[in-house]
Amino acid sequence: MASRKPNDFHARVRRRTAQIRRAIAAHDAVLSGTLQTRTKRCGQARCACQDDPDARHGPYHEWIRRRDGGQVNTKLDAQEAEIVAAAIESYREVQGLLARWEREVEAELLREERRKRSK
Ligand SMILES: [Zn+2]
Repeated sequence: MASRKPNDFHARVRRRTAQIRRAIAAHDAVLSGTLQTRTKRCGQARCACQDDPDARHGPYHEWIRRRDGGQVNTKLDAQEAEIVAAAIESYREVQGLLARWEREVEAELLREERRKRSK
């Protein structure tokens, strides 16, 4: 049996996932959850918002995510909402990249297994 150092596996995984890992490292802010943006009617009977959809107040931004088994809601201003929206998008991209990383490791592992069995 040809001797294969355990490190060979990791070296091959590092090579075949280099691009995925670079793509993950390119992200900075990642956040989970969802961002809700809506407008509201106030309680004043004579306010234009009661009848005119375009006169509704807002938009109001709310970031909703799971934390320690519960749901956390945080109101955000427009600038924060923009940051959170981009970070949620980044989070989803990183999740997709992690799934690809996992499939590459799995493929390399199974390739190795098949090689051992065919000997
Ligand atoms: Zn109003």
